[in-house]
Amino acid sequence: MPSAALNIITISFLVFIFISILISVNLMKYIIFNWKSYLNISESMNLSKVVSKLPSTKKYKLISSPNNFYNLTLKSRYPKNIYAAQNVDLHGKGASTGSIDIQDLVSNKIKFCIIGHSEVRSNFGETDLIIQKKTDLCLHNKITPIVCIGEPVDIYKSKKTKNYLKKQINKIFKKSNIYNEVILAYEPLWSIGTGLTPKMSEINDILQFLTKILKNYSFKKIKILYGGSVNLSNIKEILSLQKLDGVLVGSASTKPSFIKYFR
Ligand code: PEP
Repeated sequence: MPSAALNIITISFLVFIFISILISVNLMKYIIFNWKSYLNISESMNLSKVVSKLPSTKKYKLISSPNNFYNLTLKSRYPKNIYAAQNVDLHGKGASTGSIDIQDLVSNKIKFCIIGHSEVRSNFGETDLIIQKKTDLCLHNKITPIVCIGEPVDIYKSKKTKNYLKKQINKIFKKSNIYNEVILAYEPLWSIGTGLTPKMSEINDILQFLTKILKNYSFKKIKILYGGSVNLSNIKEILSLQKLDGVLVGSASTKPSFIKYFR
């Protein structure tokens, strides 16, 4: 075979491989298990073991978020699993009793951190301004923030969700910044832990809206997830939403049967 033809075949093959890799990376769904403070250390260990035994797949990127207290123990026992912190502190090392320092995440290779979860907002009075600072702190330290936003029930009922989310995004991100990877989790507050979920068409509508307004900001990589009462009976339908990059799951993710879905 003439060498020119051979070169064309080789180049086409490489282009094909490159495009396939690009497509599979883009289609990969992020699945975040938020174990909150539901579990003790041995239960967290057992679930980490279940995660570690799942065969690796290009379909899902599994990220476990145990109680911050257990992160390092679990990471040393199951180093291949990916862990996210459930929060981080704005105070640096030093006289900060009860603080979770960003350097502790960096030095222990915890690459993700949930920021602005509704339970942190309500239990600890966290504001969008604090969330903005924590997001910047994470990005500055090469940790991917999983930023949570979502509307309360009265806003949902009065059909002002989009306006509410737009304001949250506007307070957390600056149009003049260039952001590295950010994960944005849309979690309606009335859906978290209640068993209630928006209709698929509503989630899709919000996804399209978020995709549009996020174009006003510069993200090198932005993923949009849905969170709120995701469980074994609705996960398939929710993940079938094409524009959705994944899910953030609370209580259902503490059950091995749910985790095994991602085989
Ligand atoms: C959450 O805490 O982010 C969450 C979505 O919880 P649940 O799945 O239990 O509603």
